[in-house]
Amino acid sequence: MAINPLHTKLKNAIRIDRALRFVWQASPSYTIVSGMVLAVLGVLPLVSLYLVKLIIDEVTKLAPSLPETWSDPALFNILLYISLACGVGLLTAFFHFLADYLKKAQALAVSDHMFSVVHEKSAQVDLDFFESPKYRDTLFRAQSEGPYRPTSIVNGLFAAGQSGASFLAVAWLLFAFNPILPVAMILSAVPGIVLRLGYSQKIYSWQEKRTEDERRAYYFHWMLTGDTHAKEFRFFNLGGYFIDRFRGIRDTLRKEKLHFERLRAMGDLIAQSSAVVCVFISLAYIAFQAVRGEISIGDMVMYFQALQRGLGFLKTLLESGAQMYEDNLFLSHLYRFLKVKPLITPPVSPQPVPKTIDKGIEFNNVAFNYQNCEKKVIDCVNFSIKPGEVVALVGHNGSGKTTLVKLLSRLYDPDQGKVTLDGIDIKKFRPREYRKKISMVFQDHIRYQMSARENIFLGDIEQKEDTTKIKQAAKQSGIDQVISYLTSGYETILGRWFQNGEELSSGQWQMLAISRAFFKDSPIVVLDEPSSALDPETEALIFSRIKELTKDRAALIVTHRYSSVKLADKILVLDQGRIIEKGSHQELMALKGTYAHLFNTQASAYHQGDGK
Ligand code: ADP
Repeated sequence: MAINPLHTKLKNAIRIDRALRFVWQASPSYTIVSGMVLAVLGVLPLVSLYLVKLIIDEVTKLAPSLPETWSDPALFNILLYISLACGVGLLTAFFHFLADYLKKAQALAVSDHMFSVVHEKSAQVDLDFFESPKYRDTLFRAQSEGPYRPTSIVNGLFAAGQSGASFLAVAWLLFAFNPILPVAMILSAVPGIVLRLGYSQKIYSWQEKRTEDERRAYYFHWMLTGDTHAKEFRFFNLGGYFIDRFRGIRDTLRKEKLHFERLRAMGDLIAQSSAVVCVFISLAYIAFQAVRGEISIGDMVMYFQALQRGLGFLKTLLESGAQMYEDNLFLSHLYRFLKVKPLITPPVSPQPVPKTIDKGIEFNNVAFNYQNCEKKVIDCVNFSIKPGEVVALVGHNGSGKTTLVKLLSRLYDPDQGKVTLDGIDIKKFRPREYRKKISMVFQDHIRYQMSARENIFLGDIEQKEDTTKIKQAAKQSGIDQVISYLTSGYETILGRWFQNGEELSSGQWQMLAISRAFFKDSPIVVLDEPSSALDPETEALIFSRIKELTKDRAALIVTHRYSSVKLADKILVLDQGRIIEKGSHQELMALKGTYAHLFNTQASAYHQGDGK
């Protein structure tokens, strides 16, 4: 991904409104109430400072002699001001409690909202986004920063709002005394803030550059801690090797990160030092004014405190501002992700998908290659699948079979040529409507760690209540018996991720995936390696059922099992993205070409294996 020019980055970092929009969308009511609470909290310190001044002034008036009676007005005033100051203290504590609660509640709401934003976009983008390495960094950063950075912005806003309001109040008080004082305070904070913003920019650029390394470290971590690789890791004793690889990357990242932490600490030190110098010069000035009798002792204490607290507020204000700047800078990854426009979208005026299919699917001179790939993966492919016809697609690994399946199901669009359904370009349909017409078994089908029932009805969630159909689909794929032996039948959670989950074999998972296709019951059936994990007996059974499933339907089966290929009406042999042979089993055997060679090789290997 191209690195943004500096001015674009700065512009993005300052545009906090986009993050605020997320905060507002997550919970408008929290946002309004929080604003009000912050305003109150901002003014309360000023009230308390003023009360301290009044108390001290009354005390100085009376000292050193005590009045005769408690009813003396001066003593009464002191008690009144102290009570009021206590009331303000209690009120401040209450509003702090309220602000804390609101901050947490709002942060939770924002974080959940951000998950929804990321999830919705992830569901919307094209498959290409997930399969292309060039988007991986954006996706990784959007997923890792997206949910928590706006929350951090909420916290920053709270801190900035509260300290900003308090600082303004205190600055106003000091301004009335001497305008130079608040200006000096602000100036003393400038070196720190400049350094901090520079630091944020540097760490952002560094992280952008290092995202791939971070992803790689995360990948090793995922392999070491997940279940997918546990078997092979143990067998090949790979734990140590991957721990070292992970550690190697993390060591480099940590060293580089520490360099930035040192920069940050140095910035803080400079900021603190300039604040200390400012405080003491200002304190000397205020004390001098008190000695000259220009201000009362109460005034002096009030200004002293105002100065110290004002600097504290300013520090929090600037720190939270800098943190928001940094958060917003990092959110650019999320904005970049949210800006990705899916290309496979409904056309402006979509055509309805034919209710019944007459001519079937046709590939006309279709050519395709993946982004950043020089070579054509599919090259000038022509074939058709008519209703009632079973077409088998065979070919070496990498010849483009799965890519054809992706083109047929419109997960990608061809670069040249077109795919039609009953003569209409499939781009003219709404993708969702068109895909409803296809029952699909993917080669890398999902093992949903959910109930057996869900594993079947996820094939067509619109029919999820149809228990009879769920059971019928299970029967058709032959998995019904396995399900009936599970502890809670169709309600049994499958897989080992969750408690009481029961694991199935690879073949059984594959049968479940086939059930999903039976359940969907669409006029086009696409099966990509549907029997790779099945034993020969089950495979034969499934194929006879598939014949049943594909009756009157247009079916495309990708398979390496040549025994099953024989059942197809038409066989396409794909080689380097081109169809090099086309015909029935008998025709292709008679041709004595690639198909006949592949078939005979597999048959002889099978018989040799048999003979042993
Ligand atoms: P088959 O299913 O016949 O084994 P595929 O259709 O999966 O073959 O792959 C065909 C070619 O396309 C291979 O050379 C593969 O490396 C390449 N390919 C597959 N998927 C992608 C992708 N997402 N991005 C880039 N190249 C890909």
